[in-house]
Amino acid sequence: MSETKTHKVTLIPGDGIGPEVTQAVVRILEATGVKFDWEQFAAGAEAFEIFGEYIPQALCDSIERNKVALKGPVTTPIGGGFKSINVTLRKKFDLFANFRPIKLLPGLTSHWPGVDLIIVRENTEGEYVGLEHEVVPGVVESIKVITEKGSTRIARFAFDYARKHRRKKIHSIHKANIMKLSDGLFLRCARKVAEEFHDVQYGEHIIDNTCMQLVMNPYQYDTLLLENLYGDIVSDLCAAFVGGLGLVPGANLGHDCAIFEAVHGSAPDIAGKDIANPTALLQSAILMLRHLDEEAAADRIQKALETVYEERKCLTRDVGGTCGTTTFANAVLQAMG
Ligand code: NAD
Repeated sequence: MSETKTHKVTLIPGDGIGPEVTQAVVRILEATGVKFDWEQFAAGAEAFEIFGEYIPQALCDSIERNKVALKGPVTTPIGGGFKSINVTLRKKFDLFANFRPIKLLPGLTSHWPGVDLIIVRENTEGEYVGLEHEVVPGVVESIKVITEKGSTRIARFAFDYARKHRRKKIHSIHKANIMKLSDGLFLRCARKVAEEFHDVQYGEHIIDNTCMQLVMNPYQYDTLLLENLYGDIVSDLCAAFVGGLGLVPGANLGHDCAIFEAVHGSAPDIAGKDIANPTALLQSAILMLRHLDEEAAADRIQKALETVYEERKCLTRDVGGTCGTTTFANAVLQAMG
């Protein structure tokens, strides 16, 4: 732990289960002794009610200054309404790499016990550029944007990560048999980067086949490199290997800023009941601590989390327990000693 440094971190609790899981995670982070100066902001519908803006300018200024944020989920209206806050923030701060490790915690059972996957999702392009319009009534166009720059930098991120962390192979996942130009460009960029990394095996699979292959035998994969939409879908699919969305962490990384958030959304079906699993956001916070060079604190929380899962006495319902969010957080705090 750094003795003197106070980390200024932008905190976006979000809505739905966001505030519950964020509160639990902040308590645990503060118990490490690492000093945080939280700058807390609302976003989305909640922010609009208070400030008349979905993403308050003060929130953007805070991320710009602090370069790091911890974020709960924010609800996006379906089929209309305001643009996704999550997608907007990722684009605004050019957080091009969405990094999602998938690994089973001890004490949990899975059809695929030793599964250990890294999902690298391009975070700023593809179908998520938000370019949709009605051509004539009854006909709409939704534009998918793939660029050489965007595809090359996400491929480089995946290969750099693989080399640094001794991952064996990368598969680019695509639909270039149908989207020959866009997915074709994504693949060409990945192949070009792959040529520089002879120590990392490279393969390519078509997205629909990949979904089947993952469910039949995820062990054949190591690191998956995907465009934005495919990465979004495959992240939720792979979350199922390790116990569901309550567990899987994520990091949105750019050259300048980073926003740490879980894979899951605001889970309106369980919001406000103190039953959501805070593990996914907690594991995202562990990634944040490592990003801040607070390795000892990250290891301490990781160890405590593993102890709580190994003991299986105090788990949330999504993973077969009976405890609530707060009780689970208390157990992690106790395990930290
Ligand atoms: P969701 O991830 O919110 O929920 C899917 C299922 O997983 C639900 O059954 C939910 O109860 C369960 N679940 C999710 N997180 C859990 C947790 N921590 N503990 C226990 N169970 C958990 O997906 P959805 O219902 O499709 O989306 C709800 C809203 O969230 C939508 O408005 C969507 O746009 C938004 N969303 C936001 C983000 C984000 O903020 N980054 C990500 C995904 C979805």
